[in-house]
Amino acid sequence: MATKKEATQPTNAVNSNNAAATNGNQGMFAAVLSRLDMAFSKLNPSYNFQQIIKNPQKQVIVSLPVMMDNGKIEVFQGYRVIHSMALGPSKGGIRYAMDVDMDEVKALAAWMTFKCAIANLPYGGAKGGIQCDPRKLSVGELERLTRAYTSAMADVFGVNKDIPAPDMGTGKREMAWIVDTFSKIRGEDIPGVVTGKPLTLGGSKGREAATGRGVMISCLEAMKKIGMNKKTATCAVQGFGNVGSNAARLIAAQGIKVLGIGDHTAAFYNPKGIDIDAALKYVKENGGILKGFTGGDLVSNEELLLSDVDILVPAAVQNVITEDIAKNMKARLVVEGANGPTVAAADPILYEREITVVPDILANGGGVTVSYFEWVQNKSGHYWSEDEVNAKHDASMSTAFEHVWFNSKQYKTNLRTGAYITALKKLEQAVEYRGNY
Ligand code: NAD
Repeated sequence: MATKKEATQPTNAVNSNNAAATNGNQGMFAAVLSRLDMAFSKLNPSYNFQQIIKNPQKQVIVSLPVMMDNGKIEVFQGYRVIHSMALGPSKGGIRYAMDVDMDEVKALAAWMTFKCAIANLPYGGAKGGIQCDPRKLSVGELERLTRAYTSAMADVFGVNKDIPAPDMGTGKREMAWIVDTFSKIRGEDIPGVVTGKPLTLGGSKGREAATGRGVMISCLEAMKKIGMNKKTATCAVQGFGNVGSNAARLIAAQGIKVLGIGDHTAAFYNPKGIDIDAALKYVKENGGILKGFTGGDLVSNEELLLSDVDILVPAAVQNVITEDIAKNMKARLVVEGANGPTVAAADPILYEREITVVPDILANGGGVTVSYFEWVQNKSGHYWSEDEVNAKHDASMSTAFEHVWFNSKQYKTNLRTGAYITALKKLEQAVEYRGNY
């Protein structure tokens, strides 16, 4: 076992930190490393552990030839990164978006490792993605692409190995195609290879809303700690997909007024409060987008982030809370529904301004928590009621919040570093017990 002193020793080994050092325009994985460095400086874990946790265990890139509707082949790039299996089989969603690349997938995979550790799940972290614009593909093209990806990853995925789930641009439909393709390749029904499935294929009650529900629980826990009153508090939510719409609905159901919502097509602000049920109905009948909604004044995305609210929930894409937004934000509490919505350089600004930030690796852990419940139900063949799922989920999220809060106080740091510390403590132990060769 390495000593703490070794943490300062140089190395010739592959070191992802070099990427951070040379990357002027900080990429997503560099942002992970800079947050890790911050936590390392407080926790001072062993040199050996630092090297292991900074480098993803496995990185896979595949070319996916897909027959398009026009009869021509188009080749897509697919990715899967297994960041760590120290705590168990790796778990992580699959994203369909144009900006998917290896840097982004590495960052998202690392966050999954930390998220699972914080939520106390027996999982490591992974992530996958395909560089594509799902809005521009037909259902048939999406199905062929998803099946091609699953087939290419057949040796990577496995019920006790690597278990995908939905992320941006994917949902239960894609998960159904994955389980069907994987089961056909293996010649047996293997529902537990993926979570976030439709209920009829072994999905779990409560899974679809789980990430938004976890955001709501994190929000309530933070409000209790900082003394913010549910009856008077106001909120804005960026993103109106799976996470954002469920978070907005569940936060509003708590009596907190949601004054602002937005997606990639439009954002709206209403000082009297937005009727979230009306927005949900509108989106359902309007091809999944908010454009044209009339329940508030049209504002820009930036105006939404800077709007006059107590709570801000970024639940769309990464890097939206820039240094400028952090300097000018009116919200006193940020609950990160999206992965990586805050750039690393904004962290100290928010901390100095005493804005509480519940970090992604804690706040959006509700999805993977219920994914774990789904996997357990698939393994046991016994299925739970929605109330059972929600009760277990809420208790698990509240416990995770308490652990992170405790560590942030003990190490005199913000909640983000407190969350990293919570995860690293557990991961260091696991890595130490496993040993190396
Ligand atoms: P989704 O595809 O269902 O919805 C994404 C939403 O973001 C849409 O409303 C879209 O219009 C909006 N959006 C996209 N680009 C935008 C932009 N530039 N500005 C404003 N809005 C924009 O995706 P999702 O599953 O809700 O995921 C959202 C975030 O939450 C991602 O960061 C994802 O990694 C994270 N997350 C998702 C889950 C899950 O269970 N789905 C779990 C944990 C974390």
